Amino acid sequence: MTDMTDSKKVENVIIIGGGPAGYTAALYTARANLEPLVFEGFQWGGQLQNTTDVENYPGYPEGIMGPEMMSQFRAQAERFGTRFVTDDVDRVELSDGGVQKVFLGDEEHRAKTVILATGAEPKRLGIPGEMELGGRGVSTCGVCDGAFFKDQPVIVIGGGDSAMEDSIFISKYASQLTVVNRRDEFRASKIMFERAREKDNIELKTPYIPEEFVAGENGKLEKIRLRHAETGETEEIEAGGAFVAIGHTPRSEVVKGIVETDEDGYIVTEPGSTRTNLGGVFAVGDVVDHTYRQAVTAAGTGCMGALDAERFLRDSPPPVEAHWMPGGEPVELAP
Ligand code: NDP
Repeated sequence: MTDMTDSKKVENVIIIGGGPAGYTAALYTARANLEPLVFEGFQWGGQLQNTTDVENYPGYPEGIMGPEMMSQFRAQAERFGTRFVTDDVDRVELSDGGVQKVFLGDEEHRAKTVILATGAEPKRLGIPGEMELGGRGVSTCGVCDGAFFKDQPVIVIGGGDSAMEDSIFISKYASQLTVVNRRDEFRASKIMFERAREKDNIELKTPYIPEEFVAGENGKLEKIRLRHAETGETEEIEAGGAFVAIGHTPRSEVVKGIVETDEDGYIVTEPGSTRTNLGGVFAVGDVVDHTYRQAVTAAGTGCMGALDAERFLRDSPPPVEAHWMPGGEPVELAP
């Protein structure tokens, strides 16, 4: 049994996800006396746990480190009575307006509403060597692993803000950093692109498509084979480290086939709300958001999810199973 939870109780609200969206939903539902239970994931904090300076979150004029910001979000939700389970949900049984069930292994947790805030995760290239050399030179987290490649040549793949941010950070350690982008144009914001370009040891290489990560005799990454996107010519460049920074995919696998998702895996919500196709189930943050994917927009939709859940609890009759479990056993309802 997990501490601080009672398997007999039907919670008012279970929140799945511990990033800006989940913690904001927790803050609002906690302040509404709904005593939220948050499954924040084993690696709580979401993507900001892997970020350095956050300079675009209003209210922090000097910027703040991502992990520090997430600690503060969490502490603020905790202050109003949020309970946390620092583990990954294994399975859910969700229904339209019924008792919602969330499982950690065989451990079942029930709730009248669920807010899905599971976020997104880094995309992979899907080329040889990428998975095999994970932890031996190939990484998706510049902030986590950049310092391992001190005075070594490093490659960053991608042309968006993630690639720029990783490059700027890793350039403090690497002897030479090459940003490989598949197009001549970069998707990154002008300010991030310019900051990367200003670094003496950062070089841009376009338009090249990575084909393979190649290991040396020691089993670690030694070089990467690239193909010119137009001429098809291939070349190899040496690298001690390679960082794949090509965007993210929504983390909706736990609700796949249960809640409606679109062709890219994003959870579908009613426009202008956080309501999914199931009554009592709401979705917020990056798992819904194709477009903006910012901490501040995730937090904003977390707030919307909390308000939608609160209204649902106010306006809907309690789900039948919340009164009686099979066999007629009474179940305590949360106030
Ligand atoms: P983006 O989707 O913006 O960029 C992905 C990049 O990877 C593009 O250059 C894309 O190329 C390239 N790419 C995608 N798939 C492949 C592939 N299979 N092979 C090679 N290249 C590929 O993702 P980001 O993670 O960079 O950014 C996501 C959002 O988060 C953005 O809104 C961004 O502004 C924000 N962000 C903000 C930060 C900050 O402000 N500090 C830091 C990081 C992210 P192509 O352009 O050809 O599609």
